[in-house]
Amino acid sequence: MIEYENLKKVNEKLFSKYENSFREFTASGWYILGKNVSIFENEFASFCGAKYSVGVASGLDALILAIDAFAFPKDSEIIVPSNTYIATILAIVRNGFKPVLVEPDIKTYNIDPDKIEQKITSKTKAIMVVHLYGKMCDMQKIEDIAKKYNLKIIEDCAQAHGATYNGKKAGSFGIGCFSFYPTKNLGALGDGGAIVCDDEEYMQKLKSLRNYGSCKKYYNDDLGYNSRLDEIQAGFLSIKLKILDDITQHKRELAKLYLENLDDKFIKPVVDEKYMDVYHIFNIRDNKRDELQKYLLDNGVKAEIHYPVPPHKQKAYEHIIDGVYPISQEIHDTTLSLPISYFHTKDEILKVCKIMNGWNEL
Ligand SMILES: *Cc1c(COP(=O)(O)O)cnc(C)c1O
Repeated sequence: MIEYENLKKVNEKLFSKYENSFREFTASGWYILGKNVSIFENEFASFCGAKYSVGVASGLDALILAIDAFAFPKDSEIIVPSNTYIATILAIVRNGFKPVLVEPDIKTYNIDPDKIEQKITSKTKAIMVVHLYGKMCDMQKIEDIAKKYNLKIIEDCAQAHGATYNGKKAGSFGIGCFSFYPTKNLGALGDGGAIVCDDEEYMQKLKSLRNYGSCKKYYNDDLGYNSRLDEIQAGFLSIKLKILDDITQHKRELAKLYLENLDDKFIKPVVDEKYMDVYHIFNIRDNKRDELQKYLLDNGVKAEIHYPVPPHKQKAYEHIIDGVYPISQEIHDTTLSLPISYFHTKDEILKVCKIMNGWNEL
């Protein structure tokens, strides 16, 4: 069986380093917001080409705190792609704001910049872009729109650690929100997240928000959260960060094999030299997706669907999201994610290609 993901295999090479880190951590006697967190924050900010980074408890919390720290007025609206993972939309709703969904470009699966302006109102305060599957959004156009309407840019980079657009890293265009969920390209051994930014005052606000709204112990200036990156996870993340470029390189090589060897009957991800994609997910699209997934499973290949149900069809959002989103629906109905993990070998990917190409749609 060619698995879709196997976290033990992904992390195996690092076990002895993790064990050393764990031993030091336990012996330190300091378990919350200690030196591991601040060291990792510095390393991660510099990796992203940003001045600051603030470690938080998860990717969702990174998004929630990033919005909260701007203190937008009560009835604000925030633009978000209609095909994102639910976390981006939930973060807007949790802040009490209205998510305004914009359809993606069917070729890149990222927010269609040409459809943003028609959704902007006097209440719009920010554009949340999502660099889905590890490909960045068309940031030039988005920056132009944000400038014209005086909007903040918040980037959901949970699938795009290290991806670039015109050589500039994900998270360095606006406020960058990252997840270190174990399956992400930079994954911890548990939950974690971070926000990267260049503004010192905003960074201080985030540090207060993650820690009960307090910068000075027992003095609470903000209504905060308890959302700190765990000291133990920060230690593991510093170790993982050192091999992130290697992880990216490996995934890009596997993606190249798919792009070269997969039959053109499948709709493959687009490649554009302005974009350095990190392939958190390698997806193809096919009209008989469900049958194809079953055929692959019957032939020993596990493929996943990201995601089967679009946000506008989710029960909890029935009264929050209105409108129809045919492009998002089309993507959700046809997308299939193929194995592309750090532990997969080139031979395994070639085998998947061969099995894929042998599929005869009936
Ligand atoms: C994983 C993910 C998140 C949420 O991250 P968590 O750490 O699981 O909270 C947010 N947005 C996108 C696009 C993701 O893929």
